[in-house]
Amino acid sequence: MSRNEEKWLREYAEKSGESLEKLIRRREAGEPLQYILGEWEFYGYNFKVGKGVLIPRPETEFLVDLAKEYCVRGAPVFDLCAGSGCVGIAIAKETHRSSVIAVEKSPRAIEYLKKNIALNKVEKQVHIIECNIFNRYKIRDQFFQTLKKNCALASIVMNPPYLSKSEMQSLQKEVTHEPEEALYGGGEDGLDFYRNFFDKWNVKHNPLFACEVGDEQAAAVCEIMENKGLSPKVLKDYSGIDRIVYTLKS
Ligand code: GLN
Repeated sequence: MSRNEEKWLREYAEKSGESLEKLIRRREAGEPLQYILGEWEFYGYNFKVGKGVLIPRPETEFLVDLAKEYCVRGAPVFDLCAGSGCVGIAIAKETHRSSVIAVEKSPRAIEYLKKNIALNKVEKQVHIIECNIFNRYKIRDQFFQTLKKNCALASIVMNPPYLSKSEMQSLQKEVTHEPEEALYGGGEDGLDFYRNFFDKWNVKHNPLFACEVGDEQAAAVCEIMENKGLSPKVLKDYSGIDRIVYTLKS
């Protein structure tokens, strides 16, 4: 455990009245610091996190940057696989007027999503659809009922599960505490999620489509998209790794 982590645990123990020794023991047993603290920062905003929801990562912030740059002001945004809601909520905060539709299937993640909408005071901007993202018709109907608009007008951002089978077998201890459904993308190579996604969703007419991809997956995801007639671009993360694949309406 780093000095910094110990400092955070000490501050948290003072604030919460919990025993510092117990907190350190949890941390040393491999529980993620973020779950112990119960809150983590993403794009300068705080998000409640805990068992059952993916911890926001800094590289995911590029999805928010793209949305800020390319979303038509006031036009709706889909945050697919919303999890804690960090991406969609940060977009709502940063772009002020956008209506964000957060789609999430896990009841446990939705509890956090609701708390984070309240914590960041975006109740009027962020709406939840509790649904598997492959259930296109339910999403389309609920989107229309909520916003009285056509789905094609919305920009789409998504940080899906994408780890491969071998990555799942060699996870860092902390990551094993996070939900498998938010990590494993399916298939040997972890790309099944994207394959299914582009089979079901036609994103050609949406102003922006942007998704996060795993280390060394960008080329394969671009190929899947090109086979659907899309012209993807790639954005690097803070470590210089190809991390975001996106398309703009031509
Ligand atoms: N969108 C959420 C995040 O970026 C959750 C993503 C997921 O569950 N795969 O943290």
